[in-house]
Amino acid sequence: MESSQMKIFGSASRYVQGRGALDELGAHIGKIGKQALILGGKTALSITKKRVEKSLNESNTNIVALDNTVRMSTYPTIDRLSEIGKKEKADVIIGVGGGVAVDTAKAVAYKLQLPVACVPTQCATNADASALSVIYTEKHEWLEYLFYPKNPDLVLVDPEILVTAPAKFTVWGMGDALGANIEAKACVAQPKASSLLFGRPTAVSPWIGELCEHNLLTYGYRAAKDLEQKLVTPYVERIFESIKLLSSLCAESTGLAAAHAIHNGLTFISGVKANHGEIVAFCVLVQMVLENRDPQEIERIMSWEHQVGLPITLMQLGDINVDDLGTAAEKACDPKDTMGNMPLAISPGMVRDAILAVDSWGTEFHDSH
Ligand SMILES: [Zn+2]
Repeated sequence: MESSQMKIFGSASRYVQGRGALDELGAHIGKIGKQALILGGKTALSITKKRVEKSLNESNTNIVALDNTVRMSTYPTIDRLSEIGKKEKADVIIGVGGGVAVDTAKAVAYKLQLPVACVPTQCATNADASALSVIYTEKHEWLEYLFYPKNPDLVLVDPEILVTAPAKFTVWGMGDALGANIEAKACVAQPKASSLLFGRPTAVSPWIGELCEHNLLTYGYRAAKDLEQKLVTPYVERIFESIKLLSSLCAESTGLAAAHAIHNGLTFISGVKANHGEIVAFCVLVQMVLENRDPQEIERIMSWEHQVGLPITLMQLGDINVDDLGTAAEKACDPKDTMGNMPLAISPGMVRDAILAVDSWGTEFHDSH
């Protein structure tokens, strides 16, 4: 898609969050459809199915089909589910689960030109509210992003469901969400930067990132502790909202920059075992070094990451051969990726050196705390 200099802001039509929200799913779905195709993974649907069925029943919405076999957002899966939707005359698609389920639901809905609702059951990603899906190959390699003309019609977040997932999922989600503000600031400073909506940010978009970062740094640690005990506290709720709504709105309407580009570069080399959000958290520090930020400011972020359990060294990302970092740095600077959104020219050599600088800084920090 051609990038525009127009300011563009996009968001889900409805975002609903609160304890017991799942029991109100029917009331919200009833406004957008009467014949639902529900899809997701086995675990996600096993913990939600009864309540989803009851709630839809109460709002006189039929479940025309329910598929709990979604494991990857691939074209064969999307085609198969679209066929089911067409055959069963679905008029609304509901994706229940993690990133894969909601990405698949959005793709099926787009293919059938139907409204879509995303019901997350964990908080490792912020895929729910955005107007794009990540598509993988059958071998689980990244294939491409699919961009849609509009965001989901409904995102429904029930914290009582999200806390049943392992606490570390939300910590990963915090790592990904931490990128939002730092990458947004870079995009604002680069007049040629393009958002994920292929435009420029309105004034509010980077401010959403500012609030997101404030919430993470202020409430993230307590939320991580509460999540270990599976408690829904105001801290936990604030962090869920920061990941599911704020980071998504900010990233989509402002843009991504070095942190995500370096993340993508690192996924090309072998030995990287960490999750998306963990890698992004490390790469946020790399971006800050590239930006020549005050070391005290970087150490504040590093300290927070260390405290909540996010990686600050290469060793924490997996078994990485430093000789491969040149390849990762080259990939990170691929013109098709988002490095070009940085306000200064970044070369692969700069990226490699910044990665190694963060690694030794993080190791030093790790050993002394
Ligand atoms: Zn991300």
